[in-house]
Amino acid sequence: MNLHEYQARDILRRHGIPVPDGEVVTTAAAARAAAERMGGAVVVKAQVHAGGRGKAGGVRVVKTPTEAEAVAEAILGMTIKDLPVQKVLVTPAVDIASESYVAIIVDRVSQRPVLMVSPAGGIDIEEVAARAPQQIHRVAIDPRYGLLAHQALALGFTLHRDLQHARAAAAVMQRLYTAVYDAGASLAEINPLVTTSDGKLLALDAKIVVDDNELERRPELAALRDVSAEAPAEVRAREAGLTFIKLVGTVGCCVNGAGLAMATMDLVKYYGGEPANFLDIGGSSNPQKVVSALQIITADRAVKAILFNIFGGITRCDDVANGIVQATGQFPLIVPIVIRLTGTNELEAVRILTKAGFSALTDMDEAVKQAVAAAQGDGGGGGTAA
Ligand code: GDP
Ligand code: MN
Repeated sequence: MNLHEYQARDILRRHGIPVPDGEVVTTAAAARAAAERMGGAVVVKAQVHAGGRGKAGGVRVVKTPTEAEAVAEAILGMTIKDLPVQKVLVTPAVDIASESYVAIIVDRVSQRPVLMVSPAGGIDIEEVAARAPQQIHRVAIDPRYGLLAHQALALGFTLHRDLQHARAAAAVMQRLYTAVYDAGASLAEINPLVTTSDGKLLALDAKIVVDDNELERRPELAALRDVSAEAPAEVRAREAGLTFIKLVGTVGCCVNGAGLAMATMDLVKYYGGEPANFLDIGGSSNPQKVVSALQIITADRAVKAILFNIFGGITRCDDVANGIVQATGQFPLIVPIVIRLTGTNELEAVRILTKAGFSALTDMDEAVKQAVAAAQGDGGGGGTAA
């Protein structure tokens, strides 16, 4: 779950990381009033679950409340990466002397939280990684001991030459680790962490992603979810109990089980296609889930063919078949569908599907080849290995 910047800032502040004040508002007039209270010079920042807001024009530094009102008006009408801006954060403008980058991510390779810092702050870390990888410094944190003072200070010195700033940065790093641990975060990023012209250290931006699996035992964090700011397809999928991730391709995939879903995506790519999504309908037997899944997939205009890949174990193939028949009765498909089912109640499923005018395959390679070909518009069959 993504938190908004203002929510992430509150968490950092509670952990003792210096963060400027801020007010979240939903109207231009309220932005003006907030700017007046803050003495005029403020930053108006779009609160959306997207990075690179600055580049998109969603972060603006202004000198007067009148300007704050005008830019708030403009930002509140913006859409950044398909997400409409509904709230802006107004925060006192800071005189920046230097910008650095500090983040903690859970890293698969080291199987640990990794603290990653760079003196090249304020720009995307991907850009730094591409242009100047030597400017990124890392340490893997042993969860038994946490981030140790000397580790933090060593990284503090990669950001600042003088002891005072290095120490202050190290303190931010240690507090950030505690925040990550307490929030069950998979990522926490401060970009930029700045020094001001009067020598202070401040976190000007904050991004926290909470691992969804941690929300059950952290109701106070779960309550921060802002459904109105999430992609509609992802909200619908979550409400329907599906695991769904939108991707950029054209083959809509509907699969049971995360492992099979990954294998299906790999095979789609192997045969020259691009998956439009990851979608796991889970291990339950429930035609309604299939209906919801098809609703979500068909709502995506980029989808040019739909691929069902079901390995019936606990999931019964006949339930999936019934779901497909029900769904296509409710909303006729405008793109080709390729169905592969095997396992529990497979024969019954084939009977249900055939009766409704669908054909069903049992071979996964064949199904994927057909779906890729259908998405590429040559009407099924064929498809060559990459
Ligand atoms: P992002 O583009 O979504 O990462 O948004 P940020 O909050 O990181 O803002 C982008 C950039 O705006 C920062 O890197 C800063 O350079 C600049 N910025 C943000 N707040 C201030 C501020 O208070 N004063 C000044 N001068 N610049 C700011
Ligand atoms: Mn930023």
